[in-house]
Amino acid sequence: MNDPVLALLRDLVAIDSVNPALSPGGAGEAAVAEHVAGVMRRAGLDVAVTEAAPGRPNVVGVVEGRSPGRTLMLCGHLDTVGVEGMRDPFTPVVRDGRLYGRGAQDMKSGVAAMIDAASRLALRGGLPAGRLVVAAVADEEHASLGADALMRDHAADGAVVTEPTDLRMATCHKGFEWVEVETRGRAAHGSRPADGRDAILHMGRFLARLESVDAGLAEGPSHPLLGPASLHASTIDGGRELSVYPDRCRLSFERRTLLGEPPDAGLAEAREILGALAGEDPEFEGSARSLFTRPPHELPADHPLCRALARVLVRRGEAADPTGMSFWTDAAILSQAGTPAVLFGPRGAGLHSREEHVEVDSVITCRDVLIDLARDFC
Ligand SMILES: [Zn+2]
Repeated sequence: MNDPVLALLRDLVAIDSVNPALSPGGAGEAAVAEHVAGVMRRAGLDVAVTEAAPGRPNVVGVVEGRSPGRTLMLCGHLDTVGVEGMRDPFTPVVRDGRLYGRGAQDMKSGVAAMIDAASRLALRGGLPAGRLVVAAVADEEHASLGADALMRDHAADGAVVTEPTDLRMATCHKGFEWVEVETRGRAAHGSRPADGRDAILHMGRFLARLESVDAGLAEGPSHPLLGPASLHASTIDGGRELSVYPDRCRLSFERRTLLGEPPDAGLAEAREILGALAGEDPEFEGSARSLFTRPPHELPADHPLCRALARVLVRRGEAADPTGMSFWTDAAILSQAGTPAVLFGPRGAGLHSREEHVEVDSVITCRDVLIDLARDFC
């Protein structure tokens, strides 16, 4: 427990950085960014703190190599999801080789590993060649304002996003799209069926068809590491009072996309259902719109970055075959902006839930792998 990467991890977990866009009143990244910037500066990195949005800082530290070479970026997010239901989210507790607390797994452990890797390199003779860029970004858990801003000013020949992957090299994940659907009825007294049109029952028809679409996706094309695409209904709201026909019902659903699918796959599916329902019943009225979409991500396993990471993992006796992650990450934004990205981070469990932990040994291993990778790749 004396390893500096674990001391840093404890400090990071102890600093509240709940994403304020997810939890109103959340602390945001300002305090944790200040801490991270201080650690990097003390190690001799060239550090810049910039605002991705007001009060939502990114921290970027650079280790310059002694000769020209490739640029490797290490990227992790500083924000966490909310802490509802957690007893003591910001008090890191170590028990049985695990460190518990909000962000322990997702992803202050990955952030600690990447910062300590860069700090060690800087303090112990620097980088022989190339350039190491360490980026701690804001807002990944909501709209990725930080990664968007980062890619406006920075690029690299390869990036490792240090999200928790159980020390596996993760080359891919799905994209997602949020779609909102509204059905419109006609308000009327509950005793007057001839006057009313029930927007909620109409949404029921839409939901039944949406379930069939999801069943079709489950039977459809499947990625070897990610499985098939999927969707689920997320929130629903409608109606005004018990004795009134509802004039409106609003549903939002999430569609998880595979590579090769359009970014608005869910919107197209929703509109097809709405068109079919309107064709069957002239009284049916509904519309759909896309709220937000982010692309899927995949880096070929024979990319030089993947090959370099696999070599380091083999050397250390770790599994080196590629895997896929279920969750979306900023790797998609980096890759889309021209910086090929792979995911590699510590081992843990409970991300986004009430009890979250990371295995402390895996944080140390992650840090050491990142050091080796920087020396090999840059
Ligand atoms: Zn994360």
